Amino acid sequence: MTEKHAERERAPHLRALPAAPLAQGTMSFCARCGRGPSLPPSSAVPSRVCARCGLGLMLCAEAPARPRESDAFLVADHLGRICALSARGERRVGLDESDALRLEVGELLGARGRSREELLATVRAACEGELVGVMRWPRVAMPKGGATTRGARVRVGRCGPPPAALLVFEA
Ligand SMILES: [Zn+2]
Repeated sequence: MTEKHAERERAPHLRALPAAPLAQGTMSFCARCGRGPSLPPSSAVPSRVCARCGLGLMLCAEAPARPRESDAFLVADHLGRICALSARGERRVGLDESDALRLEVGELLGARGRSREELLATVRAACEGELVGVMRWPRVAMPKGGATTRGARVRVGRCGPPPAALLVFEA
């Protein structure tokens, strides 16, 4: 058993979901508004900036991890630093993206101690492409003063470029 495998075995709060196969391909979405591209990919030179809201960078994620337009989500790098917080994500956590960008994902989601370590390990694994499909983070408390103080379920997948973790809040 590899060390990484053993580490995963010790993480009781993380549970692999039945993942859709990678053959479903990747889909692009805006890191700000969550919407897909406005034009068929073949009809224009692809732009990294969202043509719908003009604010977010376009990212790609495998279909099971990709957020729906109605989802709140965030993007974090391999060190857990927040790289993007969607418009709905801002309302969900009660912070503007500009403030969230100064935080690490554990701070933003109120994960402390072992929970924070598990969250960071999951984010790192997603960035490294170790997660095939989607994971759940069932016990996340919002920071005090946020829009909600209840726990959240967060789907963790990978997105990019560059390689990053995509965390989608589930209702
Ligand atoms: Zn957009």
